[in-house]
Amino acid sequence: SATKQTHGFQAEVSRLLHLMIHSLYSNREIFLRELISNASDACDKLRFEALDTPALMEEDPEPAIRLTLDKSAGTLTLADNGIGMSEAEIIDHLGTIARSGTEKFLASLSGDQKKDAQLIGQFGVGFYSAFIVADKVTVESRRAGLAASEGVRWESDGQGEFSVESIERAERGTAVILHLRKDAKEFLDDGKIRQVVGQYSDHVAFPISLAVAGDDKAPETINSATALWQRARQEISDEEYENFYKHISHDFEAPLNWSHNKVEGKLEYTSLLFTPPRAPFDLYHREASRGLKLYVQRVFIMDDAEQFLPQYLRFIKGVIDAPNLPLNVSRELLQDYGPVKKIRTALTKRVLQMLKKLSKDEEKYSRFWAQFGQVLKEGIGEDPDNRDAVAALLRFASSEQGDSLTSLDDYLARRKDGQGKIYYLLGDNAAAARQSPHLEVFRKKGIEVLLLSDPVDEWMISYLDRYQEVPLVNAARGELDLDGEDKPDDAEQDNALIKRLQESLTGQVEAVRATRRLVDSPVCLVLAEDQLGPQMRRMLEAAGQ
Ligand code: ADP
Ligand code: MG
Repeated sequence: SATKQTHGFQAEVSRLLHLMIHSLYSNREIFLRELISNASDACDKLRFEALDTPALMEEDPEPAIRLTLDKSAGTLTLADNGIGMSEAEIIDHLGTIARSGTEKFLASLSGDQKKDAQLIGQFGVGFYSAFIVADKVTVESRRAGLAASEGVRWESDGQGEFSVESIERAERGTAVILHLRKDAKEFLDDGKIRQVVGQYSDHVAFPISLAVAGDDKAPETINSATALWQRARQEISDEEYENFYKHISHDFEAPLNWSHNKVEGKLEYTSLLFTPPRAPFDLYHREASRGLKLYVQRVFIMDDAEQFLPQYLRFIKGVIDAPNLPLNVSRELLQDYGPVKKIRTALTKRVLQMLKKLSKDEEKYSRFWAQFGQVLKEGIGEDPDNRDAVAALLRFASSEQGDSLTSLDDYLARRKDGQGKIYYLLGDNAAAARQSPHLEVFRKKGIEVLLLSDPVDEWMISYLDRYQEVPLVNAARGELDLDGEDKPDDAEQDNALIKRLQESLTGQVEAVRATRRLVDSPVCLVLAEDQLGPQMRRMLEAAGQ
């Protein structure tokens, strides 16, 4: 249609815009990273679609991102010759937030600027970050393959509404024109733009050029425009790795560590994997995005390729470039494609090694554990082939270690001579477990007991019956075998009191036994060998079973 239509933003967009402008003021240069990343995504998508439909490249096959400063107009323009958007797409993509959990995310914002900035950063601010620096944003676009008459102009002041009209547009792709706010005029300075692009977007694989309107100088390329993972490890600085992580993850913070590898041979691939410093807000959402960015022969194929890592390592971010995969590979094909399974096996081991390395740095590892420990525990059940490697990464509260957590290896190193088992106790929390009468006999003998209190622990431990060949034993279960300590003799079992208790508790307990495991407490409840524990029972009840 030739006329201009006005649309309202989806309510969540309006709320996000409002919160974002207020919380991200001190990180506001990230708008440039976000818009450049959209331009780069658009170039990736075009290259991908052109594999099937080469005509989409028209007369302009070299992907490029062009920044233009116009000081007299007060605008900064970011243009790309990527896939572009049709009218329907622009209304949909720049008017809504298509992410599950958005409501919950918005509700979790506290009003505390610093905390909110962090959360909003993790959520991913995307296109709307343009409004942190602009009081009006104009987007002009034409989708590849559509006629010049099917161009579209989108415009908004970020106050709740946007307008859309059709325009004539010869150039394919998208131009985002930012009418900079009075207090954001620093982004009209080419030095400033160079610095921010250098910091956040240097490794965007397409050339980013900068031109100043009215200047005679030809536009100049201001990034290195090579894919970082293709470069040799020893030529890449830590800072470059960190900035690349920020670029692909949209994070503000540096990763905890990374692993960059090139594998030659029949199964050739390059991987660059990062451990994020913080869990995303939707780590436990079933539909949350996870997985790696997949490239084939440097052509971007897809985001969130989840086939390259198991579910319990879904928090890992990174890139995989597998030049021998077919360029037309789809998610379905990835699912049961032999080479993908082999890469996945190798990458899983890599990640476990990367985390093992991280565990040598106590400060960083405790941050990691607090964020991702629960997810890692899923690996005990999910990944039998790597069970010991995953178990080595777990950390537990312990009856003998105060507030600090212990690994299974450290537990084994401290164990008593002749102690052939790893003992653990399940409880609602570590403090409650610490009070348990079940610990009395262990304390008396100086034997350490691991205290497990995560909701997933009982499920997890049911898969972990051994570590380094040493059996794990529930300290609250059945008969204990501490040098026969637990075995009462027949006279004790025949005791009249026991018989009385047995009669009066019929139907409520399975058996009443004499024991030597208690030191101070008169009685305790013990689970039979094959009985579900309280955590597991509660979990099943909660799931309606
Ligand atoms: P995300 O990039 O995470 O999808 P954004 O808010 O950054 O979220 O962008 C929303 C959507 O708008 C993109 O997914 C894309 O479909 C569309 N879009 C934004 N910028 C461009 C662009 N330069 N070219 C084509 N499409 C774009
Ligand atoms: Mg984006």
